[in-house]
Amino acid sequence: MAHQWRGVIREYASRLPVNESTRVITLGEGGTPLVLAPALSALTGSEVYLKVEGMNPTGSFKDRGMTMAITAAVAAGTEAVVCASTGNTSASAAAYATQAGIKCAVLVPDGKIAMGKLSQAIAHGAELLQVNGNFDNCLDVARKLSENYPVFLVNSVNPARIEGQKTGAFEVVDFLGDAPDYHLLPVGNAGNITAYWKGYREYSEPYESETAGTLPAVSTKRPVMWGFQAAGSAPIVAGHPITEPDTIATAIRIGNPASWAQAEAARDESGGLIDAVTDEEILEAHRWLSSREGVFVEPASAAGVAGLLKYHAAGQVPSGKKIVITVTGHGLKDPQWALRNADGSDVTPTKVDFDVVSVADALGLA
Ligand SMILES: *Cc1c(COP(=O)(O)O)cnc(C)c1O
Repeated sequence: MAHQWRGVIREYASRLPVNESTRVITLGEGGTPLVLAPALSALTGSEVYLKVEGMNPTGSFKDRGMTMAITAAVAAGTEAVVCASTGNTSASAAAYATQAGIKCAVLVPDGKIAMGKLSQAIAHGAELLQVNGNFDNCLDVARKLSENYPVFLVNSVNPARIEGQKTGAFEVVDFLGDAPDYHLLPVGNAGNITAYWKGYREYSEPYESETAGTLPAVSTKRPVMWGFQAAGSAPIVAGHPITEPDTIATAIRIGNPASWAQAEAARDESGGLIDAVTDEEILEAHRWLSSREGVFVEPASAAGVAGLLKYHAAGQVPSGKKIVITVTGHGLKDPQWALRNADGSDVTPTKVDFDVVSVADALGLA
């Protein structure tokens, strides 16, 4: 019988803080495709793969961490969870809390949240508050709320989130048979780069499992980590928090990343880098992915590809390597960007008469 994917907790139970008696809250997250990107591979002369995280149940990688965070919340007997969110965390928290039968409160920054994400949180019945402030202000309030009231914080400052998200690295290694040479990804609050690096480290050494004894190393090496922030909100690149972060890539519009130090550790221990890409470079990468690779992502998700294109143009991407780029969330979350031409004008469909000759004409077949 074909193997059906059972969600990241059951697939990687021996490497996560769970045991046989844990009540697992899952929507079948993880097991996402690692897609060979033909155009990026041809451009660079390397084998470039996309880890397509938009294929998760709520359309972003946040589900990997949320299955763990909500499972931990339920194990702790919690009745309600809270998160600050630029959108995808709230969509994910709301869905997993619904399955667990607990309440979910969501703090989102005023304005700048994509319709697709907002509608998910509302559809799943989250208590949604739009805070007069930015993401960093929301996270600050969510933290204080969880410290002073009976609610459980499910942002990526919760270690359970990082545990779940490290499974992304496991899947890459399991698929390729070893770690890639480079791993590129967007950086916002920096939980994901922290989690991937943790996963790659754990897979490259013997692992002391709580339930299965000592597990042997799975990979022979670790990748070089390249993280990319949006130029208008690139605190790690600038070396100081950004008070008014600004970018069209709303999922990485974060001025003071919670996992700042861990992101720098991933960069330094792997011999990698964290750099910025402009909104124009992000939108160009977004168009490249949809028009050349067949992969539709939300703008923030394209930051890693924007980084690859930028470093390729500077002659700094080696050929003959294996390069994995995480594309973090689905294009349908924030579809408006696809309806613009490169010059900023609106895309308008060609109108034709109800007639085969006109249609053939319009398609240039005549
Ligand atoms: C959350 C998110 C990011 C940023 O991830 P961090 O862990 O905050 O660095 C990037 N892209 C998308 C689509 C996201 O939802």
